[in-house]
Amino acid sequence: MRVVVSGGGGFLGSHLCEALVRRGDTVLCLDNFSSGRTANLAALLEEPGFACTPCDITEPFRVSGPVDAVVHLASPASPRDYLAHPLQTLAAGSSGTDTLLRLAVRRRARFVLASTSEVYGDPTVHPQHEEYWGHVSPVGPRSAYDEAKRFAEALTMAYRRSEGADTGIVRIFNTYGPRMRAHDGRVVSTFVRQALDGEPLTVFGDGDQTRSFTYVDDLVRGLVAMVDGDRPGPVNLGNPGERTVRELAELVLRITGSDSELRFLPLPVDDPVRRRPDITRAREQLGWQPRMALEEGLRHTVKWFTGQPGDARGAA
Ligand code: NAD
Ligand code: UDP
Repeated sequence: MRVVVSGGGGFLGSHLCEALVRRGDTVLCLDNFSSGRTANLAALLEEPGFACTPCDITEPFRVSGPVDAVVHLASPASPRDYLAHPLQTLAAGSSGTDTLLRLAVRRRARFVLASTSEVYGDPTVHPQHEEYWGHVSPVGPRSAYDEAKRFAEALTMAYRRSEGADTGIVRIFNTYGPRMRAHDGRVVSTFVRQALDGEPLTVFGDGDQTRSFTYVDDLVRGLVAMVDGDRPGPVNLGNPGERTVRELAELVLRITGSDSELRFLPLPVDDPVRRRPDITRAREQLGWQPRMALEEGLRHTVKWFTGQPGDARGAA
């Protein structure tokens, strides 16, 4: 297969590109490197089956040759990034998604959208199954991201219904692992960096809010299954193991052996209280479920962060 991966220079995208190239696919990565890094692609750039076109998917760009699948991951993704760049976030979800859907339709390629558990907002149904419509503020600070993804889902379904596009939607829950940016503001990367640097771990609110953390390799297996299949989704991809943020902080302290203290800071506006995926659909339709236990996944992550040169960990 020849697969176009938008956002292929980012955290999830670079792992996906690697998995595809490793199994023999040809991959074209499209990325503007706003939050992606060329270092993520260092090993791949040596591979004959891999190419990267630096471009912004919200502006005109060209893809020549056959395309069998398009996986759309390009978007600011961490709360710190999308709160700082709300207009770019809305553009990536709207015009960026439209451009990539048109590309897929023209080449008769399968299109897979990386959506998010954020479409459920601050959920009133627990755990979250795909039939739940969500509880999202259309005007709050997180709305640029949440509504961009909801619009991207609607657009994907509209192309499927009106153009016969072969589409799939995955809703990704909080995913962690090597290649997260130390200063992306996400909870796992932040706690690991703070613990390794002997800084206090910044717990927002009382730390009783929950998340379900998926290791990147598990997530990539699910994404590949969605690319290979023909299901429309949406399908939740997440680890049903639900943890409080305070539990996560304590686990990171234990794994790193750090004696950092916990520093409690105000909870950000509209921060969801609970998150846990119902993955019945992923099990039934994709034969997918996560395999990596949180503790083991965190050990891999800590090891990777420890191996980074000091400036990579310290650079904002
Ligand atoms: P990331 O920031 O590491 O990757 C996003 C990539 O998209 C970066 O390489 C960035 O440079 C690129 N990009 C952004 N805007 C672009 C544009 N206009 N044109 C071209 N490239 C652009 O984040 P990630 O965690 O790898 O997330 C990838 C995707 O998965 C995102 O769509 C995100 O919404 C989704 N997702 C991630 C998580 C998670 O926990 N990591 C959870 C839910 C959904
Ligand atoms: N969080 C925290 N301290 C931090 C960063 C995040 O307590 O330094 C909390 C955040 O308020 C949220 C959870 O951790 O409740 C997960 O945040 P993240 O940014 O990783 O992703 P989200 O799931 O909210 O998109």
